[in-house]
Amino acid sequence: MTVLAQALEELVTANRILACEGVVDSFGHASIRHPDRPDHYILSRARAPECIEIEDLMEFAADGTPADPRGRKPYAERFIHGAVYEARPDVRAVVHHHSPSVIPFSVTAVRLTPLMHMCAGIGTGIPTWDSRTKFGDTNLLVTTVEMARDLAGALGDRPVALMRGHGAVVAGVSLREVVFNSIYLQLNADLQMKATALGQPMFLSDGEVAAVLRTRSSFTFERAWEGWCHRAGRPYDSRPIEGPLAKVCSF
Ligand SMILES: [Zn+2]
Repeated sequence: MTVLAQALEELVTANRILACEGVVDSFGHASIRHPDRPDHYILSRARAPECIEIEDLMEFAADGTPADPRGRKPYAERFIHGAVYEARPDVRAVVHHHSPSVIPFSVTAVRLTPLMHMCAGIGTGIPTWDSRTKFGDTNLLVTTVEMARDLAGALGDRPVALMRGHGAVVAGVSLREVVFNSIYLQLNADLQMKATALGQPMFLSDGEVAAVLRTRSSFTFERAWEGWCHRAGRPYDSRPIEGPLAKVCSF
């Protein structure tokens, strides 16, 4: 199996896992930076994540132009992915989702903050991007390069940004990482609302978050990924994705 074929299988798996774990419903999507063409990315055609097959996966240029559409309709919000890859050479995978658990934190002043060790990867100081600030009254969908670049600017070098009244974007160095952080972002949101109902939560300190991330091994992601593959009915492939993206790539 080529690196590209392995990466495409993993992207199908990522979409199925996110659907199975309730992070995405029929909307939301995951992408990877193209393993052989770092200035391109791969994302499904506009389809519910739990239905996605290999042949649905499409290659896009940074500006969202499909390389070989073959009549397939792309996601209206694909621009999110290109803008994040463009701004972040370190990023190789992106998830955009509308998890209902995170929405309350995007429309109030309460900051979504890690309060459990497994959720440390979502980071502290999670920003909320508000489309209205620069673009006024819209349908809230990120349907232009300009909006997507503004969102990528709000994300900065962080792993997560919330989108007011809409959802979140999660960026990382691998699909395993962004799926892991998407699932634990949702869990942290649920736990934070439960804890707040009981009293003032005690959050992880910046030092604790750093300590968790410093001591976390790839085995953490593999153990979780294998379990989620099993639940989603997808084969588990333990081999790391090799190729040019094993090195730092520039867009
Ligand atoms: Zn969206």
